[in-house]
Amino acid sequence: MAVPESAAPSNFIKDIVTEDIKTGKYDGRVHTRFPPEPNGYLHIGHAKSICLNFGIAAEFNGLCNLRMDDTNPTKEEVEYVESIKQDVRWLGFDWQERMYYASNYFGRFYECAVDLIKKGRAYVCDLGPDEVRQYRGTLTEPGKESPYRSRSTEENLDLFERMRKGEFPDGSRTLRAKIDMASGNINMRDPVIYRILHAEHHMTGDKWCIYPMYDYAHCISDSIEGITHSICTLEFEDHRPLYDWFLNELGMYHPQQIEFARLNLTYTVMSKRKFIQLVEGGHVRGWDDPRMPTISGLRRRGYTPESVRNFCDRIGVAKAASTVDMALLEYCIREDLNRRAQRMMAVLRPLKVIITNYPEDRVDELEAINNPEDPSAGTRKVPFSRELYIEQEDFMEDPPKQFFRLAPGREVRLRYAYFIKCAEVVKDGAGNIIELHCTYDPATRGGDAPDGRKVKATLHWVSAEHSLEAEVRLYDYLFTQANPEEDEEGRDFISKLNSKSLEVLPNCRIEPALAAATPGNTYQFERLGYFCADPDSSARKPVFNRTVTLKDTWAKVQKREK
Ligand code: ATP
Ligand code: MG
Repeated sequence: MAVPESAAPSNFIKDIVTEDIKTGKYDGRVHTRFPPEPNGYLHIGHAKSICLNFGIAAEFNGLCNLRMDDTNPTKEEVEYVESIKQDVRWLGFDWQERMYYASNYFGRFYECAVDLIKKGRAYVCDLGPDEVRQYRGTLTEPGKESPYRSRSTEENLDLFERMRKGEFPDGSRTLRAKIDMASGNINMRDPVIYRILHAEHHMTGDKWCIYPMYDYAHCISDSIEGITHSICTLEFEDHRPLYDWFLNELGMYHPQQIEFARLNLTYTVMSKRKFIQLVEGGHVRGWDDPRMPTISGLRRRGYTPESVRNFCDRIGVAKAASTVDMALLEYCIREDLNRRAQRMMAVLRPLKVIITNYPEDRVDELEAINNPEDPSAGTRKVPFSRELYIEQEDFMEDPPKQFFRLAPGREVRLRYAYFIKCAEVVKDGAGNIIELHCTYDPATRGGDAPDGRKVKATLHWVSAEHSLEAEVRLYDYLFTQANPEEDEEGRDFISKLNSKSLEVLPNCRIEPALAAATPGNTYQFERLGYFCADPDSSARKPVFNRTVTLKDTWAKVQKREK
C-alpha cells in the first residue's frame, strides 16, 4: 500500500505505522480505536487521543473504531455514552458503523478466562482485597504466592462458574492470572482478571455479577476488533507485558500496544475523576461550564472543532510527558476566530454619552465592515443617534499622560461614525459620573476629518435606543496556579480554585444586529475579544461567553522560552 502524504506533522507513531505498512505487518492494514470509559465527559486530553487515532486511520487509509470501555458497571452512565458520541462527532470524526462496547464481549471474556484456567494459567483466589495487596509485595520486594494458587483445574472451573452464578458475595473471591509473584513488574504478579460485583450494568443489566479487569478486557477487545495499533497513554507502558501475555497465552490475534505522553495543560486539571468533583461540588455550573477543559465546555465557550484539531496538531505526539501552556490553546482559537468571526460592537460597562448638537429624532445608518480579514463577509448598517453608550473605561476625567481616550475637552473618533468632543461631565449627588455631554462634527462622518486633523483614539459604541441589553460572562483560569495538582503541603487541587474565574456583567449593551445571534455563534466584539452566544440566551436577554481576549499571550510565552 502506498503511504499517503502527511497532512498533520509526523510523529514516532506514524513512523511505526509507516514501517509496518512497508514490511507488510498486518498485511498493510491500519486499524485503530478510541476507547473511552463512559464515566464522565471527554476533555481536551481525549481530543488529543481522538485526533491521533482517527487521524492515523484517515492518513493511512485505515479504520478507527469508537469503543466504550464499559467494564466497570458502578461508574458508568448512558448520559456519558451519548456525550462521548456527540463530542467525537463534533470534532469532525466518523466511526461509521463501528461503534462497539466492551460489554458486548462479556461472553468472550468469560470463555477466554475458562481457557486460561484449563491451561493452568488462571486460578480462583479466596484472598480478600487487602490480603491480595499484602501478598503483592513492593517495588523492592517480591510478592508471596497465594495459598490458593495450586488449586486443581477442576476446582478452579467449578468455583469460577459458581462465581458467575452469583453464589459468592462481592469481594470474596477473584480470578487471577498465574504469572510470577517474583516479577520485577508488579503488574505481572498474578493480576486479578475477574472480580465479583453484584451491580447493574447500563448495557447488560443484571446478567453478570462478575466483571473483567481493564488490562484483561482491553487486549482481548483490541484482538476481537482486529486492531493493528493499540495506541494508549504512557501510564500503560508497564502494563504492556501483561497485554502481550494474555494474547500470547490465549493464542489470539495480537495487535501492538504503543504508548504516548498524555496532554497536560497549565491552569487546569485533566481527569474525569477530578471534573466529577468540580461538578458535584458545585464549583462549576456543569460538565459544559465554559471554564472546563471538557470538549463540551470548550464548545460552549466558543471553541471551534478546527481550532481544537489545530491545537492537537501543534502540540504533536511524543513519548516524554510535558505540560502545554494554556496560552497555546487560546492562540489557536484566536487565530481561527480572527479569520471567521464577524465583528460587532458591544459595550460591557456602559457610560451614557449625549451628543448635544445632534437632532433628537435623527438616526444615521452607518456602514460597518463585518470582517476586515474576509471581504466576502460584507458590511452592515449600525444606527447612530443622539444618545449613545461607550465603555466606562474609555473615559477619564483626570487622565494620566499615557491615556489617549476620551477626557474633558478631548476629541476622539467613534468607530465608523464621527469625531466627538467631551464638553461636560455630569455627576450624581455622590460624585459618580452618570453621563457625558459631547458634541460631534458632522463633517467627520465615516470616521475621517476632511481638514486632516487627527485623533489618538477610536472607541466602540452603541446607540442607547437601538441597542439591546445583554449579559456577558467573562472567564479567567479556573485555578490560580499553573499546576494545581502539585503541592508540597499536600493541599487538594480544589483549594486552588480561582474565586474570580467567572465575572458576570448583567447590563451590557449590544448593537441591534446581534439580536440574530443563536447559541454557538461567535463574534469579535471590537476591541474586547471573541464572544460566543450561550444557550442560556433568551429573546429578552441574550447571553454571551467571552471565548478569549484579543491579546495574544502566546507570543510572550514563546519569547520567554527562547
Ligand atoms: P481520565 O483520567 O480523564 O478518566 P482516562 O485515561 O482514564 O482519563 P479513558 O476514558 O480511559 O480516560 O481514555 C480514553 C482514551 O483517551 C485512552 O486511550 C486514554 O489513553 C486517552 N486519554 C485520556 N486522557 C488523555 C490525555 N490527557 N492525553 C491524551 N490522551 C488521553
Ligand atoms: Mg480510565
